[in-house]
Amino acid sequence: MQYKRILLKLSGEALMGSLQYGIDPLRLKEYAEEIHKIIQKDVQVAIVIGGGNIFRGVAGASRGMERVQADNMGMLATVINGLALQSALENEGVPTRLQSAININEVAEPFIRRKAIRHLEKGRVVIFGGGTGNPYFTTDSAAVLRAIEIGADVILKGTRVDGIYSSDPEKNTDAIKFDFISFEDVLRKGLKVMDTTAFTLSQENELPIIVFDMNTKGNLFKVVSGEKIGTKVNL
Ligand code: UDP
Repeated sequence: MQYKRILLKLSGEALMGSLQYGIDPLRLKEYAEEIHKIIQKDVQVAIVIGGGNIFRGVAGASRGMERVQADNMGMLATVINGLALQSALENEGVPTRLQSAININEVAEPFIRRKAIRHLEKGRVVIFGGGTGNPYFTTDSAAVLRAIEIGADVILKGTRVDGIYSSDPEKNTDAIKFDFISFEDVLRKGLKVMDTTAFTLSQENELPIIVFDMNTKGNLFKVVSGEKIGTKVNL
């Protein structure tokens, strides 16, 4: 395995699977199976999960809700997704811990960096819920922040497209896929990988990002073992 400790970022929307809203149990099971395969290879796995399948702060604010209130709902949505993922992983026999950036001690441990690292060393999957715990941020920023804090080798951004393209491949048939691209080129070409706050935090801390298609079976294993699929963003 090329990577020993990874931070996997999953969007909330990915959990919808074939549904229009919420959590598709089949999708959850598939993800748990994929994660199980790399745990069996002694890879240390931390996960940040989004909440877009349930609630997004920006959407709430656009309908007249106060932004901070709406973001709090979004952060709690990520805790719900974290609990669902935890349960799916445990059904696969994978030991897990859910840590939340918002104190909600009856349902999740508080985020404690040293404890999270200890869990990883013991082979437990650590799911980070509650985003960064602050409004006006995204779970992409939470993913980069936690990855840096735990000393992850790489961020794996699991999406439904198989990498970064020169333009939207769903709209332009002549879009070119990059195997490798530098942080600077992503910014220069105006490509969208993560929001700017998350992306520059990753760049400043020299933390590589791999964007790959998480919905194809075996892909997570391939990425972690060093096979060149998806797009790697590096210095
Ligand atoms: N959120 C937040 N602070 C954070 C992370 C998330 O306020 O540090 C809120 C924000 O409202 C966001 C929602 O939680 O819209 C869900 O997260 P995100 O949109 O990143 O989820 P994803 O797009 O990955 O499903």
